[in-house]
Amino acid sequence: MPKKIQIKDVHVLKALLNRRIDGRLLEIILWVAQEYGLCFTEGWRDLGRSGDVHNTDPLRAVDLRSWFYRPDVAKEIEAAINARWSYDHRRPEKNCAWIHNSGQGVHFHVQVHPNTRRREI
Ligand SMILES: [Zn+2]
Repeated sequence: MPKKIQIKDVHVLKALLNRRIDGRLLEIILWVAQEYGLCFTEGWRDLGRSGDVHNTDPLRAVDLRSWFYRPDVAKEIEAAINARWSYDHRRPEKNCAWIHNSGQGVHFHVQVHPNTRRREI
């Protein structure tokens, strides 16, 4: 049965449809959508901050609603993405999937980098 796919609001819909998206980010998103479903809460944005990975062309980050999943399932998805994908071999402490509290509540951030590669597993 298809999993549920949601987009928070019209602003996020526009932020997703109006941009090119990195092929690796697309691959990760499609995998999550297929296996677990998802709710997008952020796509491209312009907060006027340099280095914002949500502000790249092609788009290299999206946010998903973490509470769309049971807490253990959200952790399972985060771990599965990071087991399959290396964000940047030069900065192994950085991950493609990251559930964190940015100050506006917990969010599930998914990102890629020009160095992002599929891990050999
Ligand atoms: Zn984010």
